[in-house]
Amino acid sequence: MSISLYNSLSRRTETFTPLNPERVTVYLCGPTVYSYVHIGNARGPVVFDVLVRLLRRHYPNVVYARNITDVDDKINAAALEQGVPISTITDRFAAAYREDMATLGIPPPDIEPHATAHIGEITAMIEMLIAGGHAYAAEGHVLFDVASYAAYGALSGRDTEEMIAGARVEVAPYKKNPADFVLWKPSQPELPGWDSPWGRGRPGWHIECSAMSAAHLGETIDIHAGGVDLQFPHHENEIAQSTCAHGGKTFARWWMHNGMLTFDGRKMSKSLGNVLHVHQLLQQHPPEALRLLLLRGHYRQPLDWSDAAIAQSISTLDGWYRVLRDLADVSLPDGALPVPSGIEAALCDDLNTPQALAELSMLADAARQSGTPEAKAALLGGGALLGLLQQDPEAWFQRGSDGVDGARVEALLEERRAARAAKDFARADAIRAELTAMGVVIEDGAQGTRWSVAKA
Ligand SMILES: [Zn+2]
Repeated sequence: MSISLYNSLSRRTETFTPLNPERVTVYLCGPTVYSYVHIGNARGPVVFDVLVRLLRRHYPNVVYARNITDVDDKINAAALEQGVPISTITDRFAAAYREDMATLGIPPPDIEPHATAHIGEITAMIEMLIAGGHAYAAEGHVLFDVASYAAYGALSGRDTEEMIAGARVEVAPYKKNPADFVLWKPSQPELPGWDSPWGRGRPGWHIECSAMSAAHLGETIDIHAGGVDLQFPHHENEIAQSTCAHGGKTFARWWMHNGMLTFDGRKMSKSLGNVLHVHQLLQQHPPEALRLLLLRGHYRQPLDWSDAAIAQSISTLDGWYRVLRDLADVSLPDGALPVPSGIEAALCDDLNTPQALAELSMLADAARQSGTPEAKAALLGGGALLGLLQQDPEAWFQRGSDGVDGARVEALLEERRAARAAKDFARADAIRAELTAMGVVIEDGAQGTRWSVAKA
C-alpha cells in the first residue's frame, strides 16, 4: 500500500517516495520554550506522530527531529524580568513540554536539537549565504537578501508586495529591501549573545531550523512539517536559506501543514483570553480524550475545540474501552498486533484520521459482537497505529481517581458483596451511598462489580 501525502509546495497530493528508503527524514518545527504551550501547539505533534508511526510501518529507519527554540526575544524578556539566565526558563519549559507531549501519547522524537547547541552551524550557514551573495551584514545584523532568490514566495504563494504589506513593521534603515529578514542580530550586554564575525549577537529564528535540519538530517530532507501559521514567513524563509546555502539543492521534498485550532468557533488568542494550555487541560481531562479530539478532524482543516467535543471524545473512548474490558479474559493470538487494512488505507490517504477513527469504531462493534481473539487484536492493533486504546481498560475507567483511595474502595466493595450475600440489603445500600459520596460509581455486571470515578 503506497502512502499519498498532500504537498503544500506543489499543492497536490502525491505518492510519497523517500529520497533514500533506508533513511526517511522528517522535521517538525518545535516550540519556543518560554511558557506552557497552548493546545493548538499540540495538534502538529499529535498528527505528525501518527505520520511517523505510519512511515515506520513502511520503512525500516525513519529519523524524526523536532527542535526546541531556546533563545528568542520572548525568552530573553522573561529571563530579564525574573533576573535569571535564559536556561532557567528554557530548561523548565522544555521539560514541561516533553512531559505534556508524553502524556498525550507522543513518544520523544529521535532527535531534539536545541538552537543554542548549534550556534557554530548557524554562523557557518550565514557565512555560506554571505559568500554566495544571498546575505549581507549591516549595523551588526546579517540579513537575507530576498531579491537574490527568485523562487522566494513559492510555498506561500505570495508576491513581494503582499509579503511587505504582511510584515506590517517599520522597515529598518539597514535593510536593502523591506522583505529581507534577519539571520543574525546584535545583542546588548544584558542579553544572551555569542561572538561572531559580525560582533556579539544571536541568531534569528528562521536560520535555526535550517541549520539544525541540515546538521542532523542532511541538506535535503523528505518531509518538513509544521502548523499552517508557520508557512509564511518561517517556512518560506527556511526554504530560501537552505536552498541558497546548499547550491540550489531542494531543501524539503514534502511540506505538510496542519490547520489551526479554534475555540468554540473563535480564534484562540491571548487577547481574547481563551488560550488553553496543554498542561492545564491534561489535569482536567483524560489525556487520551484530548489526543482523540486532535485526530477527529482532517489535519489540513481547522479544528474546533469545545467542552462538547471533549465530552464526545470521552464518551467514544468509554464505548471502545467497555468493549475491551468485556473482553479482558480473551487472550490475544500469538505474535504482533495486526494493523487492520481499513485503518492503514485511511492513513495512507493523506493521513485521513476521521476515516481511520470511523474504521476503529467499526472494529469495536465487530469485537463486541464476535468477542473473538482476532477481533480484539484488530481493535488494539488499529488503535496502536493511532496511539489510542493502549492502556488497561480498568485504568481508563478509574482515571482521575488520584483523590480516591483504591484500596478503601475495594474493601468497601468486598464488604458490600458479603452484605448482599447475607441479604443485608440495608448495609449494601449504605455502602453504595458511601461510595457515591466518595465520587465512585459502581456497576454490577455478570463479571462482578466494577467501579469508576464519577465525572465532574
Ligand atoms: Zn522551524
